[in-house]
Amino acid sequence: MTAARKDPTTVENEVREKIHLEILKRTGAYHANDHILLPSGQHTTEYIEKTLVTTEPSFTEGLGAVIAKHFAQWPVDMVLSTGPAALILSHCVARAHPSRPTVIYGTKGLSGGKRRVSLPVEFQRLVRAGTKILLVEDLVSTGSTLNLLINLVEQLGGLVVGIGCLWRRTSVELDSNRPVFSLVSRDFPTYDPEHCPFCAKGMPLNEEFVRRRHARRPSSVQEPKVP
Ligand SMILES: [Zn+2]
Repeated sequence: MTAARKDPTTVENEVREKIHLEILKRTGAYHANDHILLPSGQHTTEYIEKTLVTTEPSFTEGLGAVIAKHFAQWPVDMVLSTGPAALILSHCVARAHPSRPTVIYGTKGLSGGKRRVSLPVEFQRLVRAGTKILLVEDLVSTGSTLNLLINLVEQLGGLVVGIGCLWRRTSVELDSNRPVFSLVSRDFPTYDPEHCPFCAKGMPLNEEFVRRRHARRPSSVQEPKVP
């Protein structure tokens, strides 16, 4: 009887992914084996704290270089991202890419109650018809930010040559026919509170991350208290 063997590329990818996950764990960003309340109200066992993902420059540079290597064969004029963590990562990707692309970023906001991403005017002028753009994201959980970035590039006549990210939730179908490369492709189950097996076992619920999000929301309008 022969055991089913995995093809070596699959094994190599799995090993590489484990290394990347270990790196994220070392930054303190990745939490596992817990019983966690998500902002959606659902419960899960794993969580990524976005803000901590890019705190170690040597790790970020290493991860950025892996993304750059993956896209090395594609000529890239610019790397585009949005959000602070993705911007730090995109700098590292651009630095390591053989085309020596420039780095630009969009800003997230709301307009008429809808999420949107816009480019500063100075950057809009840099994107011309046919400009080759690599999109960089930290975490792709719904793909909605990526779709906004793709629309933005296409409206300006640019070409999205690919999408590189740190973490992609595999349950998400990206509405894109461009190559996507993720350092970690992983999903974790989420449960409604009434069907959660960990609630059933009486395991305490970690509400820390949701509390922190609520506390952070008004921070832009909070004035530091003068003693
Ligand atoms: Zn639960």
